[in-house]
Parts: sequence; structure tokens; C-alpha cells
Amino acid sequence: MFHTSHIEISKSAYKKNIKYLRKLAGEQTVISSVIKGNAYGHGVGNIVPMAEANGLSHFSVFSASEALQVCKVKSDKSNVMIMGLLDDEEIEWAIMNDVEFYVFDTERLDKAIETAKKLKKQARLHIEVETGFHRTGFDYDYMPNLIEKLKKNQQHYVFEGLCTHYAGAESIANYVRIREQIALYRKFYRYFQRHELLPLRKHTACSAAVLTYPTTIMDLVRVGIAQYGFWPSPETQMFRFRKDPQDENPLRRLISWKSRVMVVKDVEAGEFIGYGSSFLANKKTRIAIVPVGYSNGFSRSLSNMGRVLIRGKRVPVIGTVTMNTMTVNVSDIPGVERGDEVVIIGKQKRMNISVASFSEMSNELNYQTLTRIPADIPRVVVK
Ligand SMILES: *Cc1c(COP(=O)(O)O)cnc(C)c1O
Repeated sequence: MFHTSHIEISKSAYKKNIKYLRKLAGEQTVISSVIKGNAYGHGVGNIVPMAEANGLSHFSVFSASEALQVCKVKSDKSNVMIMGLLDDEEIEWAIMNDVEFYVFDTERLDKAIETAKKLKKQARLHIEVETGFHRTGFDYDYMPNLIEKLKKNQQHYVFEGLCTHYAGAESIANYVRIREQIALYRKFYRYFQRHELLPLRKHTACSAAVLTYPTTIMDLVRVGIAQYGFWPSPETQMFRFRKDPQDENPLRRLISWKSRVMVVKDVEAGEFIGYGSSFLANKKTRIAIVPVGYSNGFSRSLSNMGRVLIRGKRVPVIGTVTMNTMTVNVSDIPGVERGDEVVIIGKQKRMNISVASFSEMSNELNYQTLTRIPADIPRVVVK
């Protein structure tokens, strides 16, 4: 073992999550597994085969480099879609390799058509429209031009999808804005329809939309965080619980993060622990050093705040988290020894540390905490 901690990824949890999402999305809707950000920290190489084993065959990423990673591990019949960045040479690579990609401005559309002509191979395009998120997407004003270009070049592309993205479907505070986006998306669709340009798939929904806005579930849904077993927000969880109280805990976390005690020692009353003076031992204190610090994704803002599990008990982080270690107070647990398992995220006996509690304490989103866990910590798939 050349690592100070490791991560376990649960296959059975993934299976359960997909089953639940399938129930919500319906049998006809394609579930695209969103695996940007190294599959939200889970590892593309772990998630792709698991998704395929659960009947999924569509993957969404942000960039061409991520798409390339997926192409190396996916089966031949699965498809990849790039939702964000690709430069001119990458457009050529995408078309050659049947990789689907978003088009959200004229430059990219022109480049895609030009490249498809040159290669004599159709580009697989998803036209993204701007409905109010204000990131990427064609504005409604541009429609006459867009339609003209698309009409003129129909032999050079496949109109795979018409898509948009919601600006915060996980919070009721954004309800009006989301409703307006849904209405504007429909208006866009009708415009295409009037000009006999019909996408193979309409798609707009991310996890939060699938969970709370059933009308956004169209031909395909792009599900990220929920497949990994997380609610996009406590509100979405409450909403589902009210709707189907019988579905108890339908989403299960895949990830557990574990390390081991490196050193155990006693500190006398009146001593400061760690850098500076943020923690003063007010009585004789037994501490354990855990070899995971902020360079390993354990945020420094968890200094004097975080909790980990040792011998089935929750113990507090004391003093400052350093680059490679944290110190925890084990005074109340008899017999702690070097080598004891330390659970940073996950279960131990009957105790549990969720990513959410971890994120809340460090004032981060689940999304952020997950994607900050360094890619070089070994991930192992477990049952
Ligand atoms: C990240 C992303 C998603 C997935 O979002 P989740 O909240 O993780 O389900 C869907 N669509 C787009 C365009 C995205 O960037």
C-alpha cells in the first residue's frame, strides 16, 4: 500500500440509485450518466462499466479530454456527449469518432459543418438554446439565422438533440425562473418544428429537475449527482419524501473514504496541539494522527470542526488540518492503536459520516467536496 487513504465505491448502491431514477424517468427515456469531473470524484473507469452493467449506454462529459477518457473504457455501443468545451481540432476528432457534442454559438456550428464536409462524415449535434441560465446557448433572436444554416446543411449533421440547462432546479427560490425556462424551451422547440427541423431527442433535465419537475423529463435526462446517491439539495429530498413516503431512502451513497491511525500519543493539560494556538488541551488528552490533510481533499476549514469515525465512535478533529495530516481527540475511546481504521466518509459499526455533513461543516456543496477528492487516491469497487 503506497497511499495514506483509499476510497470504496459500492456497486449495489449504484444499482439501487439507477433503479430509482429509472422509475422516475420512465422506461422510454434515455438516462445519460453525467461523468464530468472524474465522475464526480468516483473515477470514470469505475462508473462507466457499472453504468453499462445497469443498462445505461449514454454518457455526458464537459470536455473532449474527458470524452477521450470515456472512449477508452466504454463498450462500442455506448455513446458519449460533450456538453462544454472542444476546440477546432477536437471537433474533427469528435466527428471521426461519432462523439456527440453541444453546439451553442455560430463559430462552433460553422466549424462543425465545415469539418463534417471535409471529412465526409456527419457531425452528431445537440443544439443548445439559451433559456435563462446565461452560460451557453443560442439566443432566441438568432433563430432565423440558425434555422437557415441548419436547413442549408442538413446532409452534414444529425440533429441528435435540442437542449438547455436549468438555473438551479434544486431550490424552490428559483421556481419562477425555472418555469420561464421551461416555457421558453417549448417556444424554441415549436420554432424548430415549424421549420421541420426535429431533434431526435429533447433534453433539459439534470438530477434536480428529474426529481422535482416531471415535465422536464423528455426523451433523455442528464443525471449526475443523483446516480452517485446524493440529493441535489435537502429540498429535493423533502419533495420526494412528501410525494412517495413509502420510498424510504431511495438514494444510497456509493463512496466511502477510509484511512488508518498513524500515531497515538498523550498530551498534557495546558499544551497547544498542532500549529499555532487554535487548540489548547484543557486536560490530559489522547490524540491520534491521521495521515490525511488538505492536500488529500480534507478541507483546512474542517480544523477544530470535522469528525471522523474510529472504533465505531465519532471523534472530533482538533487543531488545524495540515497539508498531510489531521489530529483527532481519542481520549474517550479506550484502546485506540496505530493501524485502526479511520472512516472519513462512510459507515463504521452503527455510525455514519455523510458527505453532506462533511460539506456543510466546510461550507461546500456535495459536488465540490466530491470533485476535490484527489484523483490519485485509489478507488476500489466493492459489492
Ligand atoms: C453537470 C450537468 C448536469 C448534471 O447535473 P446534476 O445536478 O449533477 O444532475 C446536467 N446537465 C449539464 C449541462 C451539466 O453541466
